[in-house]
Amino acid sequence: MISIPLSFFGGIGGASARGILIKGSSYLEMLAKTDRVVFDKTGTLTRGTFSVTAVRPAQPELSGQALLQLAAAAERFSDHPVSQSLRRAAGQLPETLVTTDARELAGHGVTAQVGGRAVAAGNAKLMAALGLTAPAVDEIGTVVHVAADGAYLGYIVISDEPKSGAREAIARLRADGVRVVMLTGDRKRTADAVAEELGIAEVHSELLPEDKVTQVERLLGEKGSGECLAFVGDGINDAPVLSRADIGIAMGAMGSDAAIEAADVVLMDDDPMKISLAMRISRKTMRLVWQNIVFALAVKAVCLVLGALGIANMWVAIFADVGVMVLCVLNAARALDTKRL
Ligand code: ADP
Ligand code: MG
Repeated sequence: MISIPLSFFGGIGGASARGILIKGSSYLEMLAKTDRVVFDKTGTLTRGTFSVTAVRPAQPELSGQALLQLAAAAERFSDHPVSQSLRRAAGQLPETLVTTDARELAGHGVTAQVGGRAVAAGNAKLMAALGLTAPAVDEIGTVVHVAADGAYLGYIVISDEPKSGAREAIARLRADGVRVVMLTGDRKRTADAVAEELGIAEVHSELLPEDKVTQVERLLGEKGSGECLAFVGDGINDAPVLSRADIGIAMGAMGSDAAIEAADVVLMDDDPMKISLAMRISRKTMRLVWQNIVFALAVKAVCLVLGALGIANMWVAIFADVGVMVLCVLNAARALDTKRL
């Protein structure tokens, strides 16, 4: 049945014309069976380009600008969206802030030597790891606490906006009967606010990269055998989860190269709406495959009966073979058309 691979090629081709790269027909088949989609928050559901909304030095002699510059200098070598936002907000850094020994602690933040001082910038978990207590912050947003030489210096609040279309993308998945879950390493307050805005009921926050794997394994364990779980992420602190899920979906424009490599499906334009589109394309492709199988077998069965009864002639036999093939190939070509999905 030549039409079966052709349907898959059609589905993959149709998807790529819409900016969805599917790395093989088995993933197309699995997408059609996906009943739960797990999202990483930062960079996936949110833009990941934060703006600094508050700078709060904890010491009277320290200016907001100095605190921001110190954090940005410590973050100089990180490619986390938080760090890029801090660097953009801080602008040109003074030459005295030389950064060495920079270390990134996944799900925590960074530590580095900046101008001779041991600086740490990250969340409350990082401060706790250094033996410091970060104050409770009421403002909504991702909080970056800053410490130097064992003293707490203050915090910076940055806020990340949900992507335009993220809310509709979630609504569409849910309308198709898909269970939606959001995972994040960010603190509960910010995570809950984003989830509420996007209409996501199930959220797990303050997770380290390995906790995300545990959560996905739990969800994998809960599902039925014929169902698949998809994880959508940008690859920063979530690459292990991308490869652990049945289907890993990566953001191609903003995501890291590691994510694009580890993923089974890549969304070239980072648009979360493309997830439900990919699932619709895959369901349509599978429908065409089954239509062709059933149609071809039915025609052949009828011809067999006609032949046994002595009614069939050569033209009936030719139709049962070549005619059915041509019709199936034409039907398979419909997989290319994704306009009405
Ligand atoms: P998400 O799950 O939302 O994608 P991550 O797992 O990448 O978030 O990070 C979790 C948390 O760890 C962030 O919300 C932030 O508080 C902190 N963090 C991680 N990397 C950095 C960094 N480079 N600078 C400051 N904070 C960071
Ligand atoms: Mg992330």
